[in-house]
Amino acid sequence: MYASLRLTSPREIMGFTDFPFLVKKGGDMRRFPGHMELLSYLKDFCEWFGLREMIRFNTRVEYVGMLDYAEFGKDLRWVVRTKEKKAEKVVEEVFDAVVVASGHYSRPRLPAIKGMDSWRRKQMHSHIYRVPEPFRNEVVVVIGNSLSGQDISMELVDMAKEIHLSSKSLDISEGLSKVLSKHNNLHLRPQIDSLQEDGKVLFIDGSWVIADTIIHCTGYSYSFPFLDTKGIVVVDDDRVGPLYEHTFPPSLAPSLSFVGIPRKLIGFPFFESQAKWIAQLLSGKRTLPSWEDMMQSIKEFYHSRDVDGIPKHNTHDIANFEYCDKYGDYIGFPHLEEWRKELCVSALKNADVNLDTYRDSYDDDELLQLAHQSPHFTQLGIDAFPL
Ligand SMILES: Cc1cc2nc3c(=O)[nH]c(=O)nc-3n(C[C@H](O)[C@H](O)[C@H](O)COP(=O)(O)OP(=O)(O)OC[C@H]3O[C@@H](n4cnc5c(N)ncnc54)[C@H](O)[C@@H]3O)c2cc1C
Repeated sequence: MYASLRLTSPREIMGFTDFPFLVKKGGDMRRFPGHMELLSYLKDFCEWFGLREMIRFNTRVEYVGMLDYAEFGKDLRWVVRTKEKKAEKVVEEVFDAVVVASGHYSRPRLPAIKGMDSWRRKQMHSHIYRVPEPFRNEVVVVIGNSLSGQDISMELVDMAKEIHLSSKSLDISEGLSKVLSKHNNLHLRPQIDSLQEDGKVLFIDGSWVIADTIIHCTGYSYSFPFLDTKGIVVVDDDRVGPLYEHTFPPSLAPSLSFVGIPRKLIGFPFFESQAKWIAQLLSGKRTLPSWEDMMQSIKEFYHSRDVDGIPKHNTHDIANFEYCDKYGDYIGFPHLEEWRKELCVSALKNADVNLDTYRDSYDDDELLQLAHQSPHFTQLGIDAFPL
């Protein structure tokens, strides 16, 4: 990820329910800290709960497939092949269950643009972008007006000659309008019509620029290159399915499950509730509904999304606190605290109006106090940190 990346959500809302994301002396004490602070939180979490010894570091899962596929159903088991970073040997083991939690922020999703393959100048995805220096005095086209496109554009204004931010919609937030009016080398453009061999980037309104670099800030796709389910779980236009409640493939669950597929929600507490549900099933404390009921629920969910006009590739975009609470109800997992929801909304609103300052300037002190006095923040005791 890019070196300057800072969280878009305030740290208070991000913690797992049993481990608040506290400020530590000597760390990045900002409310919207840089990415290293989040890594540090995860390391502390591992330390606190003694998880390190359960992790095989530097080990890539190369293959996951069903053992005795012909007999699948009841006693499903999984062949897992792994390879350690520096080792030659692939190790094969058999497991009763596999939880896929491999993330979905590593395979770039690229748009199909006329002339893209023959355009000879630099093109890259935000996944590769690190720092602004290589773009000194360049004319850069940034494609995608979402979080990374905006962050990278704002970072480039002091380095590049011109930045042209290409957006699907020209109906932009107040925050972005303000940023555009502050920097006369930053321009909003509509979508690209075509790329031409002489370096020309032609936009659909007929305007054009000769660009040195195009940075695709166009998001990521779901991909499970190691997973062979014989076509039972497929990724179709970024819909991973069929998955009951975004977690369980009805034909293979609970032996196979997925954590972390949903987007646009408060990640860690939700993923925690997914993990709890899976743990309860695998330890026999709970059972899933019947195959028919799970398939029916998935069908109804897809239908409701269609009715709401939500494109298939946004199947896993939740953007709904009630869904997280409903999900928790399946397993007796606590609802999101009101202060978490409100802090989340207040940060989103602030970002909408004050795009370039929302991480450092805010007026949600009262909510923040409520958060800090809540059991979530006091549960470890004042002496619990530093570790
Ligand atoms: C630019 C950016 C900014 C973001 N900002 C925020 C933010 O401010 N707030 C927020 O809440 N969320 C943010 N997110 C989202 C957040 O990063 C994700 O929600 C979170 O990382 C998901 O956690 P995860 O464990 O499911 O996946 P990941 O964090 O992606 O972890 C997956 C892990 O699986 C490993 N893995 C993958 N394949 C294999 C394999 N075959 N074998 C072994 N290991 C494998 C990967 O190496 C990785 O370590 C951001 C994401 C991006 C890309």
